[in-house]
Amino acid sequence: MTARSPIVGGNWKMNTDRAGAVALARAVAAGVRPLAGVQTVVFPPFVYLSEVAAALAQSGGGASLGAQDCYHAEKGAFTGEISVGMLKDCGAAWVLAGHSERRHVMHEGDDLVNLKLRAALHAGLSVILCVGEKLEQRLTGQTDTVNERQVRLGLRSVEPSELARIVIAYEPVWAIGTGKTATPQDAQDAHRHIRSVVADMFGTPAANALRIQYGGSVTAANAQGLMAQPDIDGALVGGASLKADEFTAICAAAANAR
Ligand code: PEP
Repeated sequence: MTARSPIVGGNWKMNTDRAGAVALARAVAAGVRPLAGVQTVVFPPFVYLSEVAAALAQSGGGASLGAQDCYHAEKGAFTGEISVGMLKDCGAAWVLAGHSERRHVMHEGDDLVNLKLRAALHAGLSVILCVGEKLEQRLTGQTDTVNERQVRLGLRSVEPSELARIVIAYEPVWAIGTGKTATPQDAQDAHRHIRSVVADMFGTPAANALRIQYGGSVTAANAQGLMAQPDIDGALVGGASLKADEFTAICAAAANAR
């Protein structure tokens, strides 16, 4: 039995509208409130952060608020970007760094991911660092190498004391939004390797305390098998996080696994 408490994130991506985001936040907050021992974070689009923060507060907590991305500069001529200070101002406590769609659609590299992660930590936010291999990398045996590189570069210059505010999400690119989920064993193998990399960087006790989520087409139907793996400490959920009942069921599976 591990002492790590599971964490489930709901990445709403570029979905919902103002009323829908508020309604979803209320429904998620109500759904997860009775669940003990699982932390829940929702990641709405930037423009609805304040409304969702208010909805979560009115719903009595239960779920925390995060942003899907940030920019590392404090302020200035960066048209279209959002600083970590702005995110905090809107009530966010968490931010994603290096989500697959930022890396592969917006072509963000490891150096930029690291700058964003460190800026968020510096501002006092908690961060989910997303890593994961593409299909051709898995098929050519590069899964562990790719994840190791993204973890090492993503966590470069992070202070050991900051690691407690970091969660890693292992999200194989080929599994995101495709309906293809890694098998529990394949996911477990990748998580174990990621934990060993963190142990090499920060020491075994810190690595054993670090939470590593799985992401990639997680649903209520497949969550239980994934959450039962010893190195899987929750999930980062995209599509299924837009349905409060299904998202709540995933959170329940994570809670029940511990
Ligand atoms: C994600 O957006 O991080 C994700 C895992 O998406 P989905 O659950 O839809 O695959």
